[in-house]
Amino acid sequence: MGLLGAFPNNRILTGKNRVRTGLTVCTCVLLSVLRTQMAFAAPVENTKEPLVVVDPGHGTPDPGAVRANVYEKDINLKVSTELAELLAKRGFQVCMTRMGDHDFADPQDEKRGRRHRTDLVNRLAVIQHADGDAVISVHCNWSRNPSAEGAIVLFQPGNDEGARLAEQIYRSLHQANIKASAFPSASSIYLLKRTKEPCVLVELGFMSNNKEAGLLTDPLYQKRMASAIERGVSSYLEPHPSNSEPTPIPKYRAFTEWVMERVRSALGHSQPAKHGGVHVCPGPDDRTD
Ligand SMILES: [Zn+2]
Repeated sequence: MGLLGAFPNNRILTGKNRVRTGLTVCTCVLLSVLRTQMAFAAPVENTKEPLVVVDPGHGTPDPGAVRANVYEKDINLKVSTELAELLAKRGFQVCMTRMGDHDFADPQDEKRGRRHRTDLVNRLAVIQHADGDAVISVHCNWSRNPSAEGAIVLFQPGNDEGARLAEQIYRSLHQANIKASAFPSASSIYLLKRTKEPCVLVELGFMSNNKEAGLLTDPLYQKRMASAIERGVSSYLEPHPSNSEPTPIPKYRAFTEWVMERVRSALGHSQPAKHGGVHVCPGPDDRTD
């Protein structure tokens, strides 16, 4: 059911207007019954510059959404890599949950359902071990409604910092003339629900939409999308007056001025370092590509 396709362009849906999105958000992240708990190792050493964790969804053998010979996992990785490199140039610390084409399932989990489960459990462990200042999980969407289109920035209800991060990414996408919406997830999305850090899941667009499927595989559009997300993340981590200009977006409680002041105060810096670096997030098992 193409619920999202009925949404007007470029707007944030408030809690009152939230709509269940379970049928359109890729099913990989909709596991609602997981109860497994992980024992997490100590977080990585805290340093001055904010750390951004970029999580490209899926990875072989899990392709995510598939359209002809186009796999969601590959689009996610390309846009995530562009995003991570841009963030690193901006001066942030950046790590990616994966820089190669693999998922996080345990090798012995051959059954598809269990692979999904352990992928998410292990992926979450890496994200939580990184203990980032912002977490961006990158996916592509799919709907049975072929007219559904647009990027969607999802955050967990109750995660106010995640809401602020989502707002900034939404604003940046809007300013880049990329059709987008942002709203609290009404579904139980595993990573969003369990990540305490400011976390969003960005659905880049609908692979089920002819036009958008073409855009998502266009390297120029991928760079444009990554750049817009990067500006949104940067605005969240380094609020500037020019980026805080109000745009015609409905306000809700998460986007209050005291949050803005708290972020400015907590970060306590205005000039990022000259260079950052992208690396694989050192998870509890020190997995590397
Ligand atoms: Zn996905």
